[in-house]
Amino acid sequence: MDDTLRPRAFATEAVHAGREDLAALGLHAAPIDLSTTYPSADSRAEAARVDLFAAHGVVDDGPPVYGRLGNPTVARFETALARLEGTDTAVAFASGMAALTAVLLVRIAAGLRHVVAVRPLYGCSDHLLTAGALGSEVTWTGPAGVAEAIRPGTGLVMVESPANPTLAEVELRALVHACGSVPLLVDNTFATPVLQRPLESGARLVLHSATKYLGGHGDVLGGVVACDELFARELRKVRFATGGVLHPLAGYLLLRGLATLPVRVRAASATAAELARRLAADPRVTRVHYPRIGGAMIAFEIAGDPHAVIAGVDLVTPAVSLGSVDSLIQHPASISHRVVAAGDRRAAGVDDKLLRLSVGLEDVEDLWADLDRALGTPSPGGHLSAVPPLRTPRTATGTPPLSPRAAR
Ligand SMILES: *Cc1c(COP(=O)(O)O)cnc(C)c1O
Repeated sequence: MDDTLRPRAFATEAVHAGREDLAALGLHAAPIDLSTTYPSADSRAEAARVDLFAAHGVVDDGPPVYGRLGNPTVARFETALARLEGTDTAVAFASGMAALTAVLLVRIAAGLRHVVAVRPLYGCSDHLLTAGALGSEVTWTGPAGVAEAIRPGTGLVMVESPANPTLAEVELRALVHACGSVPLLVDNTFATPVLQRPLESGARLVLHSATKYLGGHGDVLGGVVACDELFARELRKVRFATGGVLHPLAGYLLLRGLATLPVRVRAASATAAELARRLAADPRVTRVHYPRIGGAMIAFEIAGDPHAVIAGVDLVTPAVSLGSVDSLIQHPASISHRVVAAGDRRAAGVDDKLLRLSVGLEDVEDLWADLDRALGTPSPGGHLSAVPPLRTPRTATGTPPLSPRAAR
């Protein structure tokens, strides 16, 4: 095959997509365009372009107009993410929730208010759908009940796989079949396009909380929907009208995050698989959830007190969110899924004893030592008592001394 026609591999795209024009511009790093507005002396031409954008969500090749319509740095991230997901295009938003909001508004504007959704979803997504705050109406069901739950006026089927926080997996191809002509939205935040590209299974919309793995360093909030150009136009119209835009600095950081996404996800997944194996063999752990497709997330239920584990970790940060280079642990019933009614939460498999661990890039033995200590020692009666937390003391200069473990 002519080598110029050979499609580039995923890892190559992760590094180069959205950056193809840089060399011709005489640049190596992507430029950050912070302009809110752009000079244009031809207001007749601008009128036609604004009409095109507002009515049809179409971006032409001309210079940018105003930051809420689009930004060149953000567009680089959108191009790159679309390439990795295999979609025509992508539309970025200020957060994952802003992205989901835009999808719902697009369907509501088309007169399709009804959503069929599979639990569990991320707590705030569940909350948004359950509250119907945007005027949508939801039917909750299992994957097998989707076809039956669809009715005239259903505009969307929504699923997460692996799901937050239980890591439950849904067979996407079968679900697409059940959806018929109703678009399926797959929240691919946990899998990332490294492990799963829902478009290949027939999903029409792929959503990410870019805050998590795409950014990857816990320092940027963002959301994105990867989809076909037709749906993207509707999303751009909503973004233009409601203003949930991604900041250009965030666009830059997300583009940079994509370059290392395959390496980060594969390295953290290998560590997570090993930790999941050790947790599953541990008598203090009653159940371990680890997806068939792999990944860097582990959910596990413990015999003891989950709050004691959260208070007991030292190397792992006790915090909500996920997908960072450093490991995070949280108690879904207290934080990420607190906004879901306790009965619904438990019915969706979110046990009160469930902990959710986002595995980072630390050494596996250091992570295991931390978890092992935080899980506590079983007392003779089988009751678990966690070892008091080992908080790293700060010195007067603010430089933390090496912990005994790190000094080992
Ligand atoms: C965090 C998260 C969201 C929400 O994203 P934000 O960027 O926090 O708004 C949506 N879906 C999943 C699976 C998440 O983990």
